[in-house]
Amino acid sequence: MSESHITGSLGSGESEASTEGPKCYCNLRAKSTIAFTDENFGRRFWGCVKFKDGGHCNYFAWRDPKMCSFGRRVIRQLRVMHAQSLGEQSAWESNERELQHQTEVIVAMTEQHRAEIINMSKQHR
Ligand SMILES: [Zn+2]
Repeated sequence: MSESHITGSLGSGESEASTEGPKCYCNLRAKSTIAFTDENFGRRFWGCVKFKDGGHCNYFAWRDPKMCSFGRRVIRQLRVMHAQSLGEQSAWESNERELQHQTEVIVAMTEQHRAEIINMSKQHR
């Protein structure tokens, strides 16, 4: 839910090759990428478009200004909260699976008891 919103709004277009932006040492338009290191999480930088293929030119330039220490702290906190909510979600999902399993067991037991009751009532006749 909120996760897809975040990745959706950040993802589209941002990592595509840009028509603006500087040229790298290969004389190609640099590609804008989002950094995910602890120190610069979410900060965009320009890099060589051939980076993934190898044979790139090691061009590197920050696109966004360095984030202030408070901003870095907020992002760090959000990442912790995000990880926690993902953990809670998976715990909830495994609870749900366990509950479903127990329900199936109870349904099976009920069926068995019903068969036994029918048998007993037949024997009484
Ligand atoms: Zn290059």
